Amino acid sequence: MGDCFQTIADIDATAEEAGALGARVVTWLVTEGIVRAERRYEMLGRPVYSPGPRWDDVTEWTNEGGCDGLAVITDPTVFRGSLGSDGSAVCPHCSARATAAPWPEAAEIWHRTGTAELPCPVCDRMVPLPEWTWEGDRFAFAHLGFEIWNAARPRPEFVAEFGRVLGHRIRTVAGKL
Ligand SMILES: [Zn+2]
Repeated sequence: MGDCFQTIADIDATAEEAGALGARVVTWLVTEGIVRAERRYEMLGRPVYSPGPRWDDVTEWTNEGGCDGLAVITDPTVFRGSLGSDGSAVCPHCSARATAAPWPEAAEIWHRTGTAELPCPVCDRMVPLPEWTWEGDRFAFAHLGFEIWNAARPRPEFVAEFGRVLGHRIRTVAGKL
């Protein structure tokens, strides 16, 4: 059985504030007893905070295999889901699909500079790359993300709480290794 993850990405965090915001969320989760302040192992080369006594309270069910925990990513990252594999990008203003846009080039610019935009083919607005939504929750572009490992389905109200603590808009992607 593979390892499942759900990623909560903060699409408003800048490169400069990602580290401090990540630390703020860890402090909140440790205070709430959801994770422990210790990191005993790694997933994909990233240290993972161990589950705390209330970890099971924020998930609807827990995957059988693998190790539970939470990793914090504070680099510009294209977070990928693997559950919906053929969804299109959708304009947040007019809900048009933008399948033919030059995504790899825009992602490259975003990686290099921290900012990139793509025009919507229907309403013509320039839309910052992280603000596009993806059918099937395929991608999220963000400088800050939280990977929840093997708690296969974090409760929606727990996910929403990240947005409140961060004061930012969030996107989620989910997948399985
Ligand atoms: Zn549009």
